[in-house]
Amino acid sequence: MAQRIVVLVEHLYGEPTDVTFELLGLARRIADSDGAIVEAVLLGEGVRHLAETLPAERVILVEHPALRYLAPEATAITVTGLLRTDAPRLALLPNTSLGMDVAAWVASALDWPLVAYCQALERREGQLVATAQLFGGKILADVAVGTSPTVISVLAGAFAAAALEPAAPGTIEVREPPAELAALRTHAASLERPAAADVDITRAEKIVAVGRGIESKDNLELAEELAQALGAVVAASRPLVDAGWLPRSRQVGKSGLKVKPKLYLALGISGAPEHLEGMKDAELIIAINKDPKAPIFGVADYGAVADLFDVVEALLERLGG
Ligand SMILES: Cc1cc2nc3c(=O)[nH]c(=O)nc-3n(C[C@H](O)[C@H](O)[C@H](O)COP(=O)(O)OP(=O)(O)OC[C@H]3O[C@@H](n4cnc5c(N)ncnc54)[C@H](O)[C@@H]3O)c2cc1C
Repeated sequence: MAQRIVVLVEHLYGEPTDVTFELLGLARRIADSDGAIVEAVLLGEGVRHLAETLPAERVILVEHPALRYLAPEATAITVTGLLRTDAPRLALLPNTSLGMDVAAWVASALDWPLVAYCQALERREGQLVATAQLFGGKILADVAVGTSPTVISVLAGAFAAAALEPAAPGTIEVREPPAELAALRTHAASLERPAAADVDITRAEKIVAVGRGIESKDNLELAEELAQALGAVVAASRPLVDAGWLPRSRQVGKSGLKVKPKLYLALGISGAPEHLEGMKDAELIIAINKDPKAPIFGVADYGAVADLFDVVEALLERLGG
């Protein structure tokens, strides 16, 4: 039987998430190089129609009310059962809040190795090598994988997505949900959508990001004004969100969102590792900070050691004129 590469399908509000197609694209490229097959694991309730949209040779479908929101406990138990029955060479999960929980659980339950925060997976001299980020990306570790079943959680945005249409329709294999789903310790009650009017900073091409240097909620108006002049959106470091100055959907970083805009203008942000984790892959980073030793300058393409209020004022003048 051909080797298998399994991808966990993450879905939200009735649609597979972008990272799912990135994982399927990655799995396809590895499979094409050595004749393996790509298998998508689709869990949920009333999700059968999604199976046809997945570019995979085979879709394993498990439906149960407890899997409706892909709550970690129910998802991990089901994935563990599926992988235990027929161990693939690689199990690829998204390194999202869901995938991080599930990947660690599954790897531990099966006693398989886990490579988390994977940003690259490629063949080198006949050997598959995964590159994982450690310490928020300050250190990269290369790990040889694939000689025994391995769980890999892959960073969103690290790989190109597979074509949306499957080249040929895959087979759909329906499996029984595991009996343990009747005795779960956690239950997902509902899924709250963020306020519809808010922006999606992960899709923004230009971001004006503000940190504690902005000093007060009232001063956010200045950042908004600059963002408007630049055609950008405003995002923030965590302290501003914790203070309730901006919604959680604007937070960049480890416990916020990962962004990859063309321009990231950081105003009064020190550049803590937890913040850098969410923005260091931006194409162009410009940092304004009063402190020449601020770590944000370590990732910035351009920086100005200056008072952000002076710089914003000067920029607005220039852009306005
Ligand atoms: C588990 C965990 C998860 C976390 N997740 C996140 C996360 O997702 N995102 C996140 O951002 N943080 C996160 N943090 C918090 C993180 O460690 C930092 O505390 C936070 O990023 C600091 O925010 P800041 O840069 O705005 O503030 P500070 O570190 O206080 O920096 C303010 C900066 O503004 C500069 N400044 C002050 N006034 C001016 C001025 N007038 N002009 C120019 N510069 C000025 C100062 O020199 C300073 O460098 C997390 C922490 C933990 C422990």
